[in-house]
Amino acid sequence: MSAPFAWIRPEPHGIHVVPADTWIDPARPVDSALVTHGHADHARGGHGRTIATPATLAIMKLRYLTDAGSTPVEYGETIRLPGGVDATFVPAGHVLGSAQILLEHAGERVVVTGDYKRRPDPTCPPFECTPCDIFITEATFGLPVFRHPPIEEEIAKLLKARADNPERCVLVGAYALGKAQRVIAELRGAGYREPIYLHGALERMCRLYEELGVDLGELRLVAGMPKGALAGGIVLCPPSALNDRWSRRLPDPITAMASGWMRVRQRARQKMVELPLVISDHADWDELTRTIEEVDPGCTWITHGREDALLRWCQLHQRKARALALVGYEDEDD
Ligand SMILES: [Zn+2]
Ligand SMILES: [Zn+2]
Repeated sequence: MSAPFAWIRPEPHGIHVVPADTWIDPARPVDSALVTHGHADHARGGHGRTIATPATLAIMKLRYLTDAGSTPVEYGETIRLPGGVDATFVPAGHVLGSAQILLEHAGERVVVTGDYKRRPDPTCPPFECTPCDIFITEATFGLPVFRHPPIEEEIAKLLKARADNPERCVLVGAYALGKAQRVIAELRGAGYREPIYLHGALERMCRLYEELGVDLGELRLVAGMPKGALAGGIVLCPPSALNDRWSRRLPDPITAMASGWMRVRQRARQKMVELPLVISDHADWDELTRTIEEVDPGCTWITHGREDALLRWCQLHQRKARALALVGYEDEDD
């Protein structure tokens, strides 16, 4: 009989499920991969076999133009891997298709969260707490300074900036997968019925969300619109386009950015953001600590961000924990 949990091994380039010779979110191509969600630091192309939710596979197909070797697994469905390992996909509440992966082997249960948040998001099902022995959590915003405000407040700021400046437009930098669609859906939830204008780089992902059942209301491309028609409008673009030549075609844009990093004033200044919107698809400090309390695992493994403060919090609260040294995982918003 081997040592407890010897079958799950954190390596620098991913978490190795040894008896199944399968990797979770590996940073380089492998024969067999379990993928938590479609962000580029988790979902890479080139694996022999990719096991993920149908929405994550559709996102990967859009990005990598191939779905060879795809094995779809629905939320709540369990797939038996070689070596007697069962894998179950559980909603993570991060972006469309995002999942935690519950692994069961020899009576031991390990949950790998991938990225997650606890706030409601109209574009994906909510995070579910799953009892386990080892809980492997992300820590992108694992510092007490990170406390995200309610999204309603940030959306209200955006709508007020628009209403106060009828001759200008509000240009919101938002990551193409997840953030852009969530901002649009929250605007619709707040009663905003006008067309929302898109930079071309956001179009395909928004269309895919719609195909997968997320209603985003009327979307129009900026390309081809006369400048004046965009006055008083809301325009979304990828963060990289906020200050480039492309934005010159817009009527005196108010530059906004939707990101958890907007909590850091210096970052907002660096990016010349006039209207920082603290909107994150990651758990903030309170969500991280509350989740560890609710899941109440035997041990917490911390990865993917600012591990130290969360490690210390676990120790102070008499919880077993360790920090993992995985490489290559950075929030795409960054
Ligand atoms: Zn992510
Ligand atoms: Zn990530």
